[in-house]
Amino acid sequence: MAGIYVHVPFCKSRCAYCDFCSSTYAAPTRHAYTDALIAEIQARSQHSTGILFRTIYLGGGTPSVLTDADLGRIFHALRDNFAIVPDAEITLEANPDDVCAARVQTWQAMGVNRLSMGVQSLDDTMLRALGRRHTAHQAVEAVAAAVAAGLHNVSIDLMYGLPGLTLRAWERTLTEALALPVTHLSAYCLSVEDGTPIAASIARGDLTLPDDETCEAQYRMLVGKTREAGFTHYEISNFARPGFPSRHNSAYWDGTPYVGLGAAAHSFDGTTRRANTTDIRRYTTSAGNPPFDTETLSVRDRINEAIFLGLRTYEGINTKIFAERFGTDTLRRLSADAAPAISRGLLRQSPERLALTERGVFVSDDVISDLILV
Ligand code: SF4
Repeated sequence: MAGIYVHVPFCKSRCAYCDFCSSTYAAPTRHAYTDALIAEIQARSQHSTGILFRTIYLGGGTPSVLTDADLGRIFHALRDNFAIVPDAEITLEANPDDVCAARVQTWQAMGVNRLSMGVQSLDDTMLRALGRRHTAHQAVEAVAAAVAAGLHNVSIDLMYGLPGLTLRAWERTLTEALALPVTHLSAYCLSVEDGTPIAASIARGDLTLPDDETCEAQYRMLVGKTREAGFTHYEISNFARPGFPSRHNSAYWDGTPYVGLGAAAHSFDGTTRRANTTDIRRYTTSAGNPPFDTETLSVRDRINEAIFLGLRTYEGINTKIFAERFGTDTLRRLSADAAPAISRGLLRQSPERLALTERGVFVSDDVISDLILV
């Protein structure tokens, strides 16, 4: 089983914090990009014969800026060229200002059964500081429209650690977000990337980031309030109602292979990673054969990845599978390295699992870095 990721690198405008591969190219370029994407789907599928795909994820960028005709062409090409299981999880990322009940119904008819919306905040002051195109009200309405249209698996993204975000304001956003009919929540601390408008505002002193203690308090509040609301904390930054963890993202964390299509998309076959060109214009003129780089992971890289990704999840590392992949000596070394954190109550070990404890989640970077092979 494997997953498919499709990158749609277009947005109507750029958010102040964004350094993702996306651009504001106009409709003709978006249409030409879709042509190139379909050509890549046809070309790459020849290397996927016999593989069953159980998830599709259209991410970006903002896939919902494509016309429904272009989205329909992409889904058609995916189904014509890859073996997609009948109950596949099919996620579309959407911006709240693109969502209405009629469009959601159209997307469902294409097979979309999960919507992931970049809400980021339910505070209009924060949304303006982030350069988001939508208001808090639009985000709430978008979730309601999706559910009214019959799509019940809706995920939202939120951000904390934002300039000027107080604990009280974060609590308000969390309370309102968790009252929405959503099945899944991803929440990330703002990461300020060089060259972004928000980095310049901070450098000028126009905006000030909260200190580390405030960010940690916001994360603790996130963990506590999601738990009170009945969500499972199944990955460090991800929370789901029972039965609704993202199957697509879970596959990334357990090392399942995936095919990445589109500019800047990454693929992984278990040992080798492939990264398509991030140059959107070059991709668009590549006729389905875009320039790409590959990197074959060494055994050490794969061990480190299994430790890093496994420990980010609630289930942790499956030690039986870890030993099958890397040998019992490597598992013994991992257990020995983990012993100090186990005795400090930061890791828990059972016959089949090595995982962070509730306390360990809050210092996960330190715990994981002590186990990484250098
Ligand atoms: S919507 Fe996402 S990809 Fe687009 S500019 Fe904003 S952060 Fe970047």
